[in-house]
Amino acid sequence: MPLTPAPLPLEALRSAFGARLKLNVPLSRYTTAHVGGPAEAFLVANNRDELAETVQQLWALGAPFRVFGSGSNMLVSDAGLAGVAVINRAAHVEFVTGEAAGAPYVLAESGANLGGVARKAALHGLSGMEWAATIPGTVGGAVYGNAGAHGGDVQGSLSLAEILHPQYGRQTWSCDQLEYQYRSSNLKRLHIPAVILSAQIRLAHSTTQDVKARMEANAAHRRHSQPPGASLGSMFKNPPGDYAGRLIEAAGLKGTRMGRVEISPVHANFFVAGEDATAGDVWSLIQMVRQTVEEKFGVALELEIECVGRWNEADTASGKSH
Ligand SMILES: Cc1cc2nc3c(=O)[nH]c(=O)nc-3n(C[C@H](O)[C@H](O)[C@H](O)COP(=O)(O)OP(=O)(O)OC[C@H]3O[C@@H](n4cnc5c(N)ncnc54)[C@H](O)[C@@H]3O)c2cc1C
Repeated sequence: MPLTPAPLPLEALRSAFGARLKLNVPLSRYTTAHVGGPAEAFLVANNRDELAETVQQLWALGAPFRVFGSGSNMLVSDAGLAGVAVINRAAHVEFVTGEAAGAPYVLAESGANLGGVARKAALHGLSGMEWAATIPGTVGGAVYGNAGAHGGDVQGSLSLAEILHPQYGRQTWSCDQLEYQYRSSNLKRLHIPAVILSAQIRLAHSTTQDVKARMEANAAHRRHSQPPGASLGSMFKNPPGDYAGRLIEAAGLKGTRMGRVEISPVHANFFVAGEDATAGDVWSLIQMVRQTVEEKFGVALELEIECVGRWNEADTASGKSH
């Protein structure tokens, strides 16, 4: 039987959040694939303290929630999200240079845009985040999923993360404590119910010109190798020693469509959603690709994206999360 989530304590939520609380807000506007149904309830947090207070109140009320950064790694079901979507707009960024211990580094609130932080670092003549300039999403989403590109990743750059835990409160975690693996942290793997408030990222002195040149080379590579349009980036993780995109292409699936979603002819690990696409279209394509690649090559592709929200029983049996 599918799990039926407990009803949200709407009256208690209204009295805790007043006019900040919105109901039935379409989440397609808050994900880069532009698909997905409504959040039962919806809150925006504009800074780190507001984010911390919001999730502490939600924990106290027993209201399930999910933090949304830029929604660039989440497939929200067409039936929407049971619970509260917390949109993280905590975006203050501070560069620390000079004599401070560990300097230079950047302290970024978790809702800051990762690429934006990288580009600001370039303007300060600071290197170390060139790999991040082309990755969509927030600092929080990147820390959660160990985002990476162009030979760098969060694991190689993060000094500290400020975490809020329902039992242990605010804590500072070292990079090692996040037990990073390829595109995952222990928060993600173990479903640890903690929220990332901010991150301290190591930098090094350089020149704006050099940093920008490296970023431009990365961006040029990406423009050439990845499609524009609404997507969630790479759909599947690369299996050990191979590439998901290569396997999907070798299976003859480039350009295949389901409903309004297409496997990109540019990069087969990108599924591009057209206007009026649904999460169901994306999910059908995921299933078809997995089955075909497994039949042809004996490789079980693992999702890099997360499926969130309410899915039907057959879907939950296939490993979706709520
Ligand atoms: C065109 C495109 C290209 C991409 N290229 C890359 C790439 O090169 N490399 C790469 O690694 N990824 C890539 N991605 C995937 C995506 O950009 C990353 O996974 C990104 O780090 C997700 O950040 P986000 O803010 O959008 O997270 P979201 O999708 O909003 O959230 C992802 C997960 O993180 C959790 N989360 C978010 N913020 C917090 C927080 N503050 N505290 C606790 N949990 C949180 C969410 O609840 C969710 O479980 C790409 C995506 C697109 C659309």
